[in-house]
Amino acid sequence: MGDGEKVTDQIDFLTENARTVLERRYLKKDASGKVCESPEHMFRRVAAHIAKAEKNYDKNADIQKIEDQFYRLMAEFRFLPNSPTLMNAGRSLGQLAACFVLPVDDSIDGIFEAVKNAAIIHKSGGGTGFSFSRLRPEKSKVGSTGGVASGPVSFMKIFNTATEQIKQGGTRRGANMAVLRVDHPDIMTFIRCKSNKSELNNFNISVGVTDQFMDAVSQKGDYDLIDPSSGKMAGRLSAEAVYDELVKQAWETGDPGIIFLDEINRFNTLPDIGEMEATNPCGEQPLLPMEACNLGSINLTRFITQKESKSELDYEKLKETIHLAVRFLDNTIDMSRYPIDEIDKTVKANRKIGLGIMGFADLLYMLEIPYDSDEALELAGNIMAFVQKESHKASSDLAKERGSFPNFDRSIFKDNKDPRRNATTTTIAPTGTLSIIAGCSSGIEPAFALSYVRTVMDNDRLIEVNPVFKRFAIEKGFYSDALMEEIAENGTVKENLNVPSDLRSVFVTAHDIKPEYHIKMQAAFQKYTDNAVSKTVNLPHDASPADVRFIYDQAFETKCKGVTIYRDGSKDNQVLSVSKKE
Ligand code: UDP
Repeated sequence: MGDGEKVTDQIDFLTENARTVLERRYLKKDASGKVCESPEHMFRRVAAHIAKAEKNYDKNADIQKIEDQFYRLMAEFRFLPNSPTLMNAGRSLGQLAACFVLPVDDSIDGIFEAVKNAAIIHKSGGGTGFSFSRLRPEKSKVGSTGGVASGPVSFMKIFNTATEQIKQGGTRRGANMAVLRVDHPDIMTFIRCKSNKSELNNFNISVGVTDQFMDAVSQKGDYDLIDPSSGKMAGRLSAEAVYDELVKQAWETGDPGIIFLDEINRFNTLPDIGEMEATNPCGEQPLLPMEACNLGSINLTRFITQKESKSELDYEKLKETIHLAVRFLDNTIDMSRYPIDEIDKTVKANRKIGLGIMGFADLLYMLEIPYDSDEALELAGNIMAFVQKESHKASSDLAKERGSFPNFDRSIFKDNKDPRRNATTTTIAPTGTLSIIAGCSSGIEPAFALSYVRTVMDNDRLIEVNPVFKRFAIEKGFYSDALMEEIAENGTVKENLNVPSDLRSVFVTAHDIKPEYHIKMQAAFQKYTDNAVSKTVNLPHDASPADVRFIYDQAFETKCKGVTIYRDGSKDNQVLSVSKKE
């Protein structure tokens, strides 16, 4: 720990949930399994480790000063790096990135190399994405044996089993993304591969669709299937029939999602290096094969200021945080130990980072703006345009000190006069755990519920209320335990006459919001995000397949890079639910 540790190391608040998550997974434990690190120590450990990179560029750098800045950035919950950084920085594993994409070549060697690499990455807390599009289709010939190939889906089962067995040394569950191009001959098997809800549970799956395919859908035409091993046409399918099946499966189970390959590659900053064929497990980070990315998220709820008794966003403070966060993430690249040499090389040549935001729904509550309003869409665009612009500027400033990323001359920036330290700077992550640690709403998602009732061991019922809603309820004098319990039961305040009418439209939750607003919000953020945006479009249980199709069409038209839907009750092990009274 640095000498700079003073009373100021005290962090200002930590919810009970945050403490539990940290103790379970993030804080150091001794040989007997007892936690031997406080949250303050954890942030110190991370700050000290990440600050060390400064010495690579300036022998006289004031490391202690930077360490203290990084410490405050995290301890004030203005910014948190992705979970592997919090868990592993300054410890023996030392692997700091959350997202990886691995190539899967069409050979037994290639496939099992990828299985092994994925296992190593999962052990360190990273998630892996793969394109299985290069694998020859089921029943095609295997030259060396004269036998027949078993196809992408059967090989995915091997990856799934390997993931199941790793369990990541008790840190986190292995997560995978499988992408198959829509013109692969096995596409129908792939689309249905998760229809049995107990199969391939360690995978999210996405169909990689092309503009050509979407055109064929709109013209109700057929399209060619291509055998990747020969490059030859291997059949034709009705685009509409494939799209309908995809929609039907997603309606039934949530899988597959879609990624828009052409849209992703229109924003590939390194087209001369390669094509992007897959994303990380939650879809927010398209990457080249053998690339990894460190993510980090700014907690918007920490940037509220009062002006003439009105709440507003403090853009000056946000700017300062963005610049420091870019420096932090760039340092992370140098301080991470990537588990595979080729990944280490690719990451250091492109230096992609993914800075995003969390706490957006809470911010809207604080500013009394309904999530499903034009004002919210406009604010989303303004915030993300600002994050993008300032992060690009921070990356240019860093490049002036440290040099551009080594592949700069092969990138789309090569003719710009400004140098760039990073091939990309922005990504919006789900922040599943980070948002619990920071005590804010996750990513750009609306709140799932305003209050929950938790039954604890001896059947005591504990009411947990969204902190912003609770504050408003107390300030405006309508708080009562009974009301909070009623809201937990109903899952909404929309028609609750005990809540003042102006607040009923502000405190909306995921299921109050029309699905098309979910997509509008995703598109508003995507417009200013270098990489992609993690977003789930929540649909009510009684939504129809036509509703799902409308969402997929909207996502394509509004230039999202992918889309994931979830219809309430369509998975057996749903993570979040409200106990709605019929
Ligand atoms: N991830 C993973 N396993 C998990 C959760 C996340 O491998 O159990 C990876 C995955 O690549 C995902 C990324 O981490 O897309 C970011 O997820 P999230 O923002 O929820 O992670 P956090 O940093 O909040 O833990």
